[in-house]
Amino acid sequence: MDFTTAQPLSASSPNNPRQGLTQYVAALAQPAERERAAQLLAQLVGAEDLVIFIRDQEIGELLPALGFPQTFPQGRKWRSFLDLVLRAQRAEASLPMPRSAMMTTACGIAYDDQAVLVLLGGNPIRADVHEVALYLPLLVAAFQGELSIKTATAQAMLARNAVAESQLVGKSLELARQELQQALHQTRLTLNHNEELNRQLAGQAAELRTILEAIPDAILACDVHGIITRINAQGRDLFDLDIGDSILSLGSKLLVFKEPRGAVLLTTVPEYLLAQAMQTNRLTDLRCVLRKSELLPEHHLLLNAVSIRMREDVTGVVFTATDITHIHHLSEMKDEFLAIASHELRTPLTTIKMMTQVAQRRTARAIPVEMQHFEQISHAVLRMERLVSDLLDVSRVQSGKLSLNLILFDLCALCRQATSDEQFGEERPIAMNIPSGPINVWGDPLRITQVIVNFLTNANKYSQAGSPITITLHAVDSHVRVAVSDAGIGIPPQDVPHVFERFFRVPTNTVQNGSRVGLGLGLYICRTIIEMHQGQIGVDSTVGDGSTFWFTLPLAA
Ligand code: ADP
Repeated sequence: MDFTTAQPLSASSPNNPRQGLTQYVAALAQPAERERAAQLLAQLVGAEDLVIFIRDQEIGELLPALGFPQTFPQGRKWRSFLDLVLRAQRAEASLPMPRSAMMTTACGIAYDDQAVLVLLGGNPIRADVHEVALYLPLLVAAFQGELSIKTATAQAMLARNAVAESQLVGKSLELARQELQQALHQTRLTLNHNEELNRQLAGQAAELRTILEAIPDAILACDVHGIITRINAQGRDLFDLDIGDSILSLGSKLLVFKEPRGAVLLTTVPEYLLAQAMQTNRLTDLRCVLRKSELLPEHHLLLNAVSIRMREDVTGVVFTATDITHIHHLSEMKDEFLAIASHELRTPLTTIKMMTQVAQRRTARAIPVEMQHFEQISHAVLRMERLVSDLLDVSRVQSGKLSLNLILFDLCALCRQATSDEQFGEERPIAMNIPSGPINVWGDPLRITQVIVNFLTNANKYSQAGSPITITLHAVDSHVRVAVSDAGIGIPPQDVPHVFERFFRVPTNTVQNGSRVGLGLGLYICRTIIEMHQGQIGVDSTVGDGSTFWFTLPLAA
């Protein structure tokens, strides 16, 4: 039978029942008309509905053919009924209808093991049922063909999907390949860049090495434990150390130099230097002495250090050492010369002074012009005396021979006396802000007087005639403080830390009043004297407003 040429199904019952049966069977083969054809065929044979089950080849189960209801109420009952029909070839039972679930009589006929036709409800005419059953093999073949087409369609779809997926995978692979190529390109660029950086680094390292070797100072870098990581030839020669050695091995060969008594041994100098440099970030111009052995001459060094920092962490220290041995020797020679010169100058000066005084007395009634000349000679001698005695004092300080004659005395009385002796004429009285006292201190009155006179002389020299000068004394806690203030030219802030240094004179300050003599030694001697008394010395100054020089001494117990 050719199912494809089957006539469309008409609702009206055909005149010839046999012709109707074949027409409905043919319509059954059409999936779109299957449900309706099944009902008409069922009614033609006296039943209400029919279902055909065929064996699914893949899972081996009997399943409703396509186009029939696919789910059945009380499925288990249906399954046992189908098993029964397969076993007995033909069987009857009471089963729920697929759509309405109403119980009805079911008559099943099996074809081989491959299909079961179930007629539901009504009272099927046995002969017609038998005839329908004869068509079962054809219907099974049609249904299985349908299933095969469906399976093939599904497989074709799967294949199409697989092709689409593989196309997608292909695209992803292409993308991945492009990305990989880009990454490779990037890597090549990075490599080139790194090569360039390496070249630059090597160039900079060579430059750094050359700079290190070109600098006449000894330079060494070490880690936080003092292990040397870099050192130039000058450093190797000076310290007899090399990369990998520890600067701590210098031990007591490296001493801190303290004026005026010379080198002072700090047993832990290298450790001290390392710790200081790491803590403070920078050590500046620390005078040191390197004594390699008893037999070799010592080196005088000016040490500087800067800590190496990576972000916030200190990772090492760079030391530079300038060998100032020759400068030190020159300075020693100069000190020696000053000591001899000042000593040799003092003797003739004393003679001139004495002779002038004798001549002055003898010509007491001489004419005023001669008296004036004697006055001038006396003043000149006094100034020279002060100069020579400053030079002598400096020599004593340098050689550690400045000594003090300590006694207990009233500082108030001493200040008053020194101020009265040092008055600079009627137009320039010195204001005294001194308590009646006594305020007793232990000290050398001559030396303390020397400090006060130096402060007063400077106040006079570096301020305009007529501007006020004040000396103040007051006790604070366990100390007494003496201050001399002027309203003179003042001292620039950058020079203030240096005014107590030997030979230092403020470059911009010119003498405003009185003697032009000055070697920059007075305040240096004052500092030494006060420090020898366990006191402190300092200055507060503002350019244009004036200066206050002060010192403190411990009060006598
Ligand atoms: P000098 O003999 O040159 O005065 P000092 O040691 O007494 O030597 O003083 C050092 C320098 O300090 C002076 O040269 C001067 O420039 C400065 N100085 C000292 N006292 C004063 C002051 N009262 N006002 C301004 N400058 C001063």
